[in-house]
Amino acid sequence: MARTILHADLDAFYASVEQLDRPELRGRPVVVGGPPEARGVVAAASYEARRFGIHSAMPMSRALRLCPQAVRVSPRFGRYGEVSRQVMSVFRAVTPLVEPLSLDEAFLDVTAQVRRYGGAEALARRLKRRVKERTGLTVSVGAGTNKTVAKIASDMQKPDGLVIVAPGAEEAFLAPLPARALWGVGPRAESVLAAAGLHTIGDIAGARPQQLEALFGARGLAVQEMARGRDDRAVETEHERKSVGAETTFPRDLADGPELREQLARLANEVAERLSQGGSRARTVVLKLRYADFHTITRQTTRPEPTDDAEEIESAAAGLLDAVVQPGDKFRLLGIHGAKLGEGQPDQLSLWSAAGEAGRTPAPRRD
Ligand SMILES: [Mg+2]
Repeated sequence: MARTILHADLDAFYASVEQLDRPELRGRPVVVGGPPEARGVVAAASYEARRFGIHSAMPMSRALRLCPQAVRVSPRFGRYGEVSRQVMSVFRAVTPLVEPLSLDEAFLDVTAQVRRYGGAEALARRLKRRVKERTGLTVSVGAGTNKTVAKIASDMQKPDGLVIVAPGAEEAFLAPLPARALWGVGPRAESVLAAAGLHTIGDIAGARPQQLEALFGARGLAVQEMARGRDDRAVETEHERKSVGAETTFPRDLADGPELREQLARLANEVAERLSQGGSRARTVVLKLRYADFHTITRQTTRPEPTDDAEEIESAAAGLLDAVVQPGDKFRLLGIHGAKLGEGQPDQLSLWSAAGEAGRTPAPRRD
């Protein structure tokens, strides 16, 4: 029987929370992040700000040049964590099978609930309404028979979107979309595919398997399966997962400095909040770095006591960064993963992490 998987993703999360809490900001361009004089970075931009070309991970100085009337707000991670808990509890009221991908984004397996709610669309509409009632925020939802399709669908009508892909329609839904819409296809894979004449997901689906294997090895075949709308990965609850991670890809390569350190702090906050929401603590902290040449390394440190404290995770990750960074190094991706108490290697850095493209989220992230 076909599964029903939802991907639910709050719209412009941090910026929307600021607009929610400060009504005078509603309808105005809002950017969340550190001040330009401290080389702050945009952590989130409201849709009004995006119209000026502002996007997350952009230097704050550039964002404010693009839109001088934008209101800059410093991030309040504690508040975002609080709202995240409310949202995740709305999700868990629908199904116990919730896999958070970040504070504001999750997969839900609603296969067992969908009939009771009168179908996928009715269920998704109810979920959106409940999130709005409970938090005041809008969430975009994609529904389909698997994770790949649901995730792409949730991104198609943001903000406040709802896109349902019917069983059997997966391949036709995906075919016209650009190759980069596929999970795990980042800028480098995209250019390799384009050079081979493969521009859309349909091109990848229709390619000879040998061609994809020649380009990407075994991973090429996995990408083709996804392009054909096939993806049997299960929705895994935080409880089942062996690590919790957050990663960010920069719009341009970053040297070590205030911007990189601000991102490190933000990721540490996110990992800490998600560990704490899942009732778990990390004994091992893993730092993931992708260099400008796409070479990727991970470094890890194991602590005497497990933690879900943002500052402890940040300082562990900062120590790992200090130990590897060399003058002149530039980075395109930064990630922090916490591996749980009592478990071994953090082995869930996803299908893609060792091979090189994107991590758990496509880049650049649209939120
Ligand atoms: Mg989002």
